[in-house]
Amino acid sequence: MSTTLRPIAFFDMKAQQALIRTEIDAGIARVLDHGRFIQGPEVEAIEADLARFSGAKHAVGVSSGTDALQIAMMAEGIGPGDAVFLPAFTYTATAEVPLVLGAVPVFVDVDPATFNLDLEDLARRVALVEREGRLRPRAVIGVDLYGLPANWPAIEGLCEKHGMFALDDAAQGFGGALHGRRLGTFGHATALSFYPTKTLGCYGDGGAILTDDAERAELYRSLRTHGEGKSRYEVLRTGMNGRLDSIQAAVLLAKMPLLDGELRARRQVAGWYEAALGGRVATPQVPAGHDSAWGIYTILLPDAAGRSRVQAAMQAAGVPSAIYYPKPLHHQPAYARAHAEGIAAGAPPLPISESLCERCLSLPMHPYLGEGEVARVAAAVLSAL
Ligand SMILES: *Cc1c(COP(=O)(O)O)cnc(C)c1O
Repeated sequence: MSTTLRPIAFFDMKAQQALIRTEIDAGIARVLDHGRFIQGPEVEAIEADLARFSGAKHAVGVSSGTDALQIAMMAEGIGPGDAVFLPAFTYTATAEVPLVLGAVPVFVDVDPATFNLDLEDLARRVALVEREGRLRPRAVIGVDLYGLPANWPAIEGLCEKHGMFALDDAAQGFGGALHGRRLGTFGHATALSFYPTKTLGCYGDGGAILTDDAERAELYRSLRTHGEGKSRYEVLRTGMNGRLDSIQAAVLLAKMPLLDGELRARRQVAGWYEAALGGRVATPQVPAGHDSAWGIYTILLPDAAGRSRVQAAMQAAGVPSAIYYPKPLHHQPAYARAHAEGIAAGAPPLPISESLCERCLSLPMHPYLGEGEVARVAAAVLSAL
Protein backbone atom coordinates (compact mmCIF):
# COMPACT_ATOMS: atom_id res chain seq x y z
CA MET A 1 0.00 0.00 0.00
CA SER A 2 1.36 3.39 -0.88
CA THR A 3 0.47 6.66 0.72
CA THR A 4 -0.10 9.49 -1.69
CA LEU A 5 1.91 12.55 -0.88
CA ARG A 6 0.84 15.97 -2.06
CA PRO A 7 2.88 16.82 -5.18
CA ILE A 8 5.60 19.35 -4.42
CA ALA A 9 5.16 22.63 -6.28
CA PHE A 10 8.19 24.46 -7.64
CA PHE A 11 6.41 27.76 -7.00
CA ASP A 12 3.05 27.66 -5.21
CA MET A 13 0.53 30.37 -5.95
CA LYS A 14 -2.51 28.30 -4.96
CA ALA A 15 -1.69 27.99 -1.26
CA GLN A 16 -1.34 31.75 -1.02
CA GLN A 17 -4.51 32.36 -2.99
CA ALA A 18 -6.51 30.17 -0.64
CA LEU A 19 -5.52 32.44 2.26
CA ILE A 20 -6.64 35.70 0.63
CA ARG A 21 -9.18 34.66 -2.00
CA THR A 22 -11.91 36.73 -0.33
CA GLU A 23 -9.76 39.88 -0.35
CA ILE A 24 -8.71 39.32 -3.96
CA ASP A 25 -12.29 38.79 -5.11
CA ALA A 26 -13.40 41.90 -3.23
CA GLY A 27 -10.55 43.98 -4.65
CA ILE A 28 -11.31 42.94 -8.22
CA ALA A 29 -15.03 43.52 -7.65
CA ARG A 30 -14.29 47.08 -6.50
CA VAL A 31 -12.46 47.75 -9.77
CA LEU A 32 -15.37 46.31 -11.75
CA ASP A 33 -17.72 48.61 -9.82
CA HIS A 34 -15.81 51.87 -10.17
CA GLY A 35 -14.71 51.08 -13.72
CA ARG A 36 -11.40 52.96 -13.68
CA PHE A 37 -9.45 50.09 -15.17
CA ILE A 38 -6.50 52.31 -16.06
CA GLN A 39 -4.92 54.63 -13.44
CA GLY A 40 -7.56 53.72 -10.88
CA PRO A 41 -7.15 54.45 -7.17
CA GLU A 42 -5.61 50.99 -6.59
CA VAL A 43 -2.51 52.04 -8.53
CA GLU A 44 -1.79 54.97 -6.23
CA ALA A 45 -2.54 52.84 -3.19
CA ILE A 46 -0.07 50.10 -4.15
CA GLU A 47 2.55 52.71 -5.05
CA ALA A 48 2.24 54.09 -1.52
CA ASP A 49 2.54 50.56 -0.06
CA LEU A 50 5.63 49.79 -2.16
CA ALA A 51 7.33 53.02 -1.14
CA ARG A 52 6.56 52.36 2.51
CA PHE A 53 7.75 48.76 2.38
CA SER A 54 11.01 49.50 0.57
CA GLY A 55 11.82 52.83 2.17
CA ALA A 56 12.06 54.48 -1.26
CA LYS A 57 10.58 57.98 -1.51
CA HIS A 58 8.76 57.27 -4.79
CA ALA A 59 7.20 54.22 -6.41
CA VAL A 60 5.81 54.24 -9.95
CA GLY A 61 3.68 51.29 -11.07
CA VAL A 62 4.42 50.04 -14.58
CA SER A 63 3.34 47.22 -16.87
CA SER A 64 6.17 44.73 -16.22
CA GLY A 65 9.68 44.34 -14.86
CA THR A 66 11.03 44.66 -18.38
CA ASP A 67 9.18 47.94 -18.88
CA ALA A 68 10.45 49.14 -15.49
CA LEU A 69 14.01 48.65 -16.76
CA GLN A 70 13.18 50.26 -20.09
CA ILE A 71 11.45 53.34 -18.66
CA ALA A 72 14.31 53.87 -16.18
CA MET A 73 16.83 53.75 -19.06
CA MET A 74 14.71 55.97 -21.34
CA ALA A 75 14.58 58.59 -18.60
CA GLU A 76 18.38 58.81 -18.69
CA GLY A 77 18.33 59.18 -22.48
CA ILE A 78 20.37 56.00 -22.90
CA GLY A 79 20.68 54.98 -26.54
CA PRO A 80 23.07 54.65 -29.49
CA GLY A 81 26.72 55.08 -28.56
CA ASP A 82 26.17 54.04 -24.95
CA ALA A 83 27.58 50.99 -23.20
CA VAL A 84 25.44 49.40 -20.48
CA PHE A 85 27.26 46.95 -18.21
CA LEU A 86 25.32 43.97 -16.85
CA PRO A 87 25.95 40.40 -15.74
CA ALA A 88 26.28 37.62 -18.35
CA PHE A 89 24.46 35.33 -15.90
CA THR A 90 20.92 36.73 -15.60
CA TYR A 91 17.49 36.63 -17.21
CA THR A 92 17.35 37.84 -20.81
CA ALA A 93 15.28 40.96 -20.04
CA THR A 94 18.26 42.67 -18.38
CA ALA A 95 20.20 42.61 -21.68
CA GLU A 96 17.26 43.09 -24.01
CA VAL A 97 16.37 46.55 -22.76
CA PRO A 98 19.65 48.37 -23.63
CA LEU A 99 19.55 46.73 -27.08
CA VAL A 100 15.96 47.81 -27.72
CA LEU A 101 17.05 51.38 -26.94
CA GLY A 102 19.98 51.16 -29.35
CA ALA A 103 22.64 50.92 -26.64
CA VAL A 104 25.17 48.08 -26.39
CA PRO A 105 25.01 45.63 -23.47
CA VAL A 106 28.50 44.79 -22.21
CA PHE A 107 28.48 41.45 -20.41
CA VAL A 108 30.34 41.22 -17.11
CA ASP A 109 31.30 38.06 -15.29
CA VAL A 110 29.84 37.20 -11.89
CA ASP A 111 31.29 36.33 -8.53
CA PRO A 112 31.58 32.55 -8.05
CA ALA A 113 30.16 32.73 -4.50
CA THR A 114 27.26 35.19 -4.87
CA PHE A 115 26.52 34.83 -8.64
CA ASN A 116 26.18 38.63 -8.72
CA LEU A 117 28.34 41.18 -10.57
CA ASP A 118 32.07 40.66 -10.03
CA LEU A 119 33.27 44.18 -9.24
CA GLU A 120 36.83 43.63 -10.40
CA ASP A 121 35.64 42.32 -13.74
CA LEU A 122 33.16 45.21 -14.00
CA ALA A 123 35.91 47.79 -13.38
CA ARG A 124 38.13 46.07 -15.93
CA ARG A 125 35.47 46.13 -18.67
CA VAL A 126 34.54 49.75 -17.96
CA ALA A 127 38.25 50.63 -18.36
CA LEU A 128 38.45 48.67 -21.63
CA VAL A 129 35.41 50.45 -23.10
CA GLU A 130 36.79 53.79 -21.96
CA ARG A 131 40.18 53.10 -23.50
CA GLU A 132 38.66 52.08 -26.86
CA GLY A 133 36.67 55.31 -26.87
CA ARG A 134 33.97 54.08 -29.27
CA LEU A 135 31.19 53.73 -26.74
CA ARG A 136 30.41 55.86 -23.70
CA PRO A 137 30.15 53.95 -20.40
CA ARG A 138 26.67 55.10 -19.38
CA ALA A 139 25.05 52.67 -16.97
CA VAL A 140 25.41 49.55 -14.85
CA ILE A 141 22.45 47.23 -14.30
CA GLY A 142 23.12 45.22 -11.15
CA VAL A 143 20.91 42.17 -10.68
CA ASP A 144 20.02 40.73 -7.27
CA LEU A 145 20.06 37.21 -8.64
CA TYR A 146 17.82 34.66 -6.93
CA GLY A 147 16.97 37.38 -4.38
CA LEU A 148 20.48 37.98 -3.02
CA PRO A 149 21.36 41.70 -3.04
CA ALA A 150 24.35 42.54 -5.25
CA ASN A 151 27.30 44.45 -3.82
CA TRP A 152 25.54 47.80 -4.04
CA PRO A 153 27.98 50.03 -2.14
CA ALA A 154 30.75 48.95 -4.55
CA ILE A 155 28.54 49.31 -7.66
CA GLU A 156 27.45 52.77 -6.51
CA GLY A 157 31.08 53.77 -5.91
CA LEU A 158 32.18 52.69 -9.38
CA CYS A 159 29.18 54.41 -11.03
CA GLU A 160 29.92 57.61 -9.15
CA LYS A 161 33.55 57.55 -10.26
CA HIS A 162 32.63 57.18 -13.94
CA GLY A 163 29.43 59.26 -13.97
CA MET A 164 27.29 56.23 -14.77
CA PHE A 165 23.64 55.52 -14.00
CA ALA A 166 23.20 52.70 -11.46
CA LEU A 167 20.03 50.66 -11.99
CA ASP A 168 19.03 47.84 -9.65
CA ASP A 169 17.23 45.00 -11.43
CA ALA A 170 15.52 43.70 -8.29
CA ALA A 171 12.98 41.62 -10.23
CA GLN A 172 14.00 38.59 -8.16
CA GLY A 173 14.98 40.46 -5.04
CA PHE A 174 12.03 42.40 -3.67
CA GLY A 175 12.20 41.99 0.12
CA GLY A 176 15.96 41.44 0.21
CA ALA A 177 18.11 43.77 2.30
CA LEU A 178 21.67 44.96 2.64
CA HIS A 179 22.98 45.99 6.07
CA GLY A 180 19.39 46.27 7.31
CA ARG A 181 18.24 48.44 4.39
CA ARG A 182 15.71 46.90 2.02
CA LEU A 183 16.37 46.85 -1.73
CA GLY A 184 14.67 49.80 -3.38
CA THR A 185 17.00 52.57 -2.29
CA PHE A 186 20.29 51.37 -3.80
CA GLY A 187 21.63 52.86 -7.02
CA HIS A 188 19.65 55.67 -8.70
CA ALA A 189 16.55 53.55 -9.30
CA THR A 190 15.23 50.03 -8.74
CA ALA A 191 13.15 47.95 -11.14
CA LEU A 192 10.63 45.46 -9.73
CA SER A 193 8.67 42.74 -11.51
CA PHE A 194 5.33 41.41 -10.33
CA TYR A 195 5.37 38.43 -12.66
CA PRO A 196 3.27 35.82 -10.81
CA THR A 197 6.19 33.75 -9.49
CA LYS A 198 8.27 36.63 -8.09
CA THR A 199 8.40 37.29 -4.35
CA LEU A 200 5.52 39.73 -4.81
CA GLY A 201 3.51 38.69 -7.85
CA CYS A 202 0.23 39.71 -9.42
CA TYR A 203 -2.07 37.67 -11.69
CA GLY A 204 -0.66 38.88 -14.96
CA ASP A 205 2.16 41.25 -15.82
CA GLY A 206 3.15 44.16 -13.64
CA GLY A 207 6.14 46.03 -12.29
CA ALA A 208 7.30 49.18 -10.55
CA ILE A 209 10.20 51.59 -10.43
CA LEU A 210 11.44 52.83 -7.06
CA THR A 211 13.60 55.90 -6.59
CA ASP A 212 14.44 58.57 -4.03
CA ASP A 213 14.73 61.17 -6.79
CA ALA A 214 11.56 63.25 -7.32
CA GLU A 215 12.60 64.41 -10.81
CA ARG A 216 13.21 60.87 -11.98
CA ALA A 217 9.88 59.71 -10.52
CA GLU A 218 8.07 62.44 -12.45
CA LEU A 219 9.83 61.43 -15.66
CA TYR A 220 8.85 57.78 -15.10
CA ARG A 221 5.19 58.81 -14.69
CA SER A 222 5.34 60.78 -17.90
CA LEU A 223 7.15 58.05 -19.85
CA ARG A 224 4.71 55.32 -18.81
CA THR A 225 1.87 57.36 -20.36
CA HIS A 226 3.34 58.21 -23.77
CA GLY A 227 5.52 61.04 -22.48
CA GLU A 228 2.54 63.16 -21.52
CA GLY A 229 2.91 66.53 -19.81
CA LYS A 230 0.56 68.18 -17.34
CA SER A 231 -2.42 67.69 -19.59
CA ARG A 232 -3.30 64.45 -21.27
CA TYR A 233 -2.84 65.68 -24.81
CA GLU A 234 0.48 67.45 -24.31
CA VAL A 235 3.31 65.16 -25.45
CA LEU A 236 6.66 66.27 -24.04
CA ARG A 237 8.87 63.32 -24.95
CA THR A 238 8.84 59.94 -26.63
CA GLY A 239 7.28 57.56 -24.16
CA MET A 240 5.40 54.30 -24.23
CA ASN A 241 2.28 52.60 -22.91
CA GLY A 242 3.80 51.22 -19.73
CA ARG A 243 1.10 51.47 -17.07
CA LEU A 244 0.22 49.07 -14.27
CA ASP A 245 -3.50 48.32 -14.53
CA SER A 246 -5.98 48.70 -11.68
CA ILE A 247 -6.93 45.01 -11.43
CA GLN A 248 -3.30 43.95 -11.03
CA ALA A 249 -2.82 46.70 -8.45
CA ALA A 250 -5.87 45.36 -6.57
CA VAL A 251 -4.33 41.86 -6.54
CA LEU A 252 -1.05 43.26 -5.22
CA LEU A 253 -2.87 45.22 -2.50
CA ALA A 254 -4.47 41.99 -1.28
CA LYS A 255 -1.09 40.22 -1.23
CA MET A 256 0.93 42.96 0.42
CA PRO A 257 -0.08 42.11 4.02
CA LEU A 258 1.33 38.58 3.54
CA LEU A 259 4.71 39.67 2.24
CA ASP A 260 6.63 40.02 5.50
CA GLY A 261 5.54 36.60 6.73
CA GLU A 262 6.24 35.04 3.36
CA LEU A 263 9.78 36.42 3.36
CA ARG A 264 10.31 34.90 6.80
CA ALA A 265 8.91 31.58 5.57
CA ARG A 266 11.26 31.61 2.57
CA ARG A 267 14.21 32.18 4.92
CA GLN A 268 13.03 29.22 6.99
CA VAL A 269 12.85 26.99 3.89
CA ALA A 270 16.38 28.07 2.93
CA GLY A 271 17.50 27.19 6.46
CA TRP A 272 16.01 23.69 6.16
CA TYR A 273 17.73 23.20 2.81
CA GLU A 274 21.05 24.36 4.26
CA ALA A 275 20.72 21.97 7.20
CA ALA A 276 19.97 19.03 4.89
CA LEU A 277 22.33 19.80 2.00
CA GLY A 278 25.09 22.06 3.34
CA GLY A 279 28.48 20.38 3.11
CA ARG A 280 27.12 17.79 0.63
CA VAL A 281 26.55 20.10 -2.34
CA ALA A 282 27.35 23.77 -2.90
CA THR A 283 24.46 25.62 -1.30
CA PRO A 284 23.87 29.40 -1.63
CA GLN A 285 26.39 31.63 0.12
CA VAL A 286 24.98 34.70 1.83
CA PRO A 287 27.70 37.26 2.64
CA ALA A 288 27.60 39.04 6.01
CA GLY A 289 25.14 41.92 6.04
CA HIS A 290 23.10 40.51 3.13
CA ASP A 291 19.52 39.28 3.52
CA SER A 292 18.28 37.31 0.54
CA ALA A 293 14.64 37.50 -0.51
CA TRP A 294 15.05 33.82 -1.50
CA GLY A 295 13.14 34.24 -4.74
CA ILE A 296 14.86 31.17 -6.19
CA TYR A 297 16.93 28.52 -4.37
CA THR A 298 19.88 27.30 -6.42
CA ILE A 299 22.54 24.71 -5.70
CA LEU A 300 25.68 23.97 -7.71
CA LEU A 301 26.75 20.50 -8.77
CA PRO A 302 30.38 19.69 -9.59
CA ASP A 303 29.74 19.39 -13.33
CA ALA A 304 27.09 19.06 -16.05
CA ALA A 305 26.97 15.25 -15.78
CA GLY A 306 26.44 15.47 -12.02
CA ARG A 307 23.63 17.94 -12.56
CA SER A 308 21.93 15.65 -15.07
CA ARG A 309 22.09 12.79 -12.58
CA VAL A 310 20.51 14.89 -9.83
CA GLN A 311 17.83 16.21 -12.17
CA ALA A 312 16.96 12.67 -13.26
CA ALA A 313 16.79 11.45 -9.65
CA MET A 314 14.53 14.36 -8.73
CA GLN A 315 12.27 13.70 -11.67
CA ALA A 316 12.05 10.00 -10.74
CA ALA A 317 11.06 11.04 -7.21
CA GLY A 318 8.37 13.37 -8.58
CA VAL A 319 10.20 16.48 -7.42
CA PRO A 320 10.34 19.46 -9.81
CA SER A 321 13.56 21.32 -10.58
CA ALA A 322 14.61 24.05 -13.01
CA ILE A 323 17.72 25.54 -14.56
CA TYR A 324 18.13 29.30 -14.19
CA TYR A 325 19.94 29.75 -16.60
CA PRO A 326 21.18 27.14 -19.08
CA LYS A 327 23.08 29.61 -21.29
CA PRO A 328 25.09 32.72 -20.48
CA LEU A 329 23.73 35.74 -22.34
CA HIS A 330 26.86 36.25 -24.46
CA HIS A 331 26.21 32.80 -25.98
CA GLN A 332 22.61 33.62 -26.91
CA PRO A 333 22.24 34.10 -30.68
CA ALA A 334 20.34 37.36 -30.14
CA TYR A 335 23.22 38.91 -28.20
CA ALA A 336 26.26 37.53 -30.00
CA ARG A 337 26.67 40.61 -32.20
CA ALA A 338 26.33 43.00 -29.30
CA HIS A 339 28.89 40.98 -27.38
CA ALA A 340 31.39 41.33 -30.22
CA GLU A 341 30.62 45.04 -30.54
CA GLY A 342 30.95 46.02 -26.87
CA ILE A 343 34.71 45.55 -26.63
CA ALA A 344 35.94 45.54 -30.22
CA ALA A 345 39.45 44.33 -29.41
CA GLY A 346 37.85 41.18 -27.98
CA ALA A 347 36.06 40.85 -24.67
CA PRO A 348 37.85 38.95 -21.91
CA PRO A 349 36.32 35.52 -21.28
CA LEU A 350 33.38 34.99 -18.89
CA PRO A 351 34.39 31.69 -17.29
CA ILE A 352 32.28 31.87 -14.11
CA SER A 353 29.04 32.63 -15.97
CA GLU A 354 29.76 29.77 -18.37
CA SER A 355 30.53 27.34 -15.58
CA LEU A 356 27.45 28.28 -13.54
CA CYS A 357 25.19 27.63 -16.53
CA GLU A 358 26.47 24.06 -16.66
CA ARG A 359 26.23 23.40 -12.93
CA CYS A 360 23.32 25.34 -11.44
CA LEU A 361 20.11 23.64 -10.40
CA SER A 362 17.16 25.34 -8.74
CA LEU A 363 15.03 23.50 -6.20
CA PRO A 364 11.41 24.17 -5.24
CA MET A 365 11.19 27.43 -3.28
CA HIS A 366 8.07 29.15 -1.98
CA PRO A 367 6.73 30.26 1.40
CA TYR A 368 4.31 27.35 1.72
CA LEU A 369 6.82 24.49 1.58
CA GLY A 370 6.78 22.34 4.70
CA GLU A 371 9.78 20.86 6.46
CA GLY A 372 8.76 17.35 5.32
CA GLU A 373 8.59 18.50 1.71
CA VAL A 374 12.04 20.07 1.95
CA ALA A 375 13.29 16.76 3.35
CA ARG A 376 11.81 14.91 0.35
CA VAL A 377 13.52 17.32 -2.08
CA ALA A 378 16.82 17.03 -0.21
CA ALA A 379 16.63 13.23 -0.15
CA ALA A 380 16.11 13.14 -3.90
CA VAL A 381 19.14 15.39 -4.42
CA LEU A 382 21.33 13.39 -2.04
CA SER A 383 20.31 10.09 -3.61
CA ALA A 384 22.14 11.04 -6.81
CA LEU A 385 25.40 12.32 -5.31
C1 LIG B 1 11.57 38.44 -14.18
C2 LIG B 1 12.77 39.24 -14.47
C3 LIG B 1 12.72 40.39 -15.28
C4 LIG B 1 11.54 40.76 -16.11
O1 LIG B 1 10.35 40.93 -15.46
P1 LIG B 1 8.97 40.83 -16.27
O2 LIG B 1 7.98 41.36 -15.30
O3 LIG B 1 8.76 39.40 -16.61
O4 LIG B 1 9.09 41.69 -17.46
C5 LIG B 1 13.88 41.14 -15.42
N1 LIG B 1 15.01 40.80 -14.81
C6 LIG B 1 15.10 39.70 -14.03
C7 LIG B 1 16.39 39.39 -13.37
C8 LIG B 1 13.98 38.87 -13.85
O5 LIG B 1 14.09 37.77 -13.11
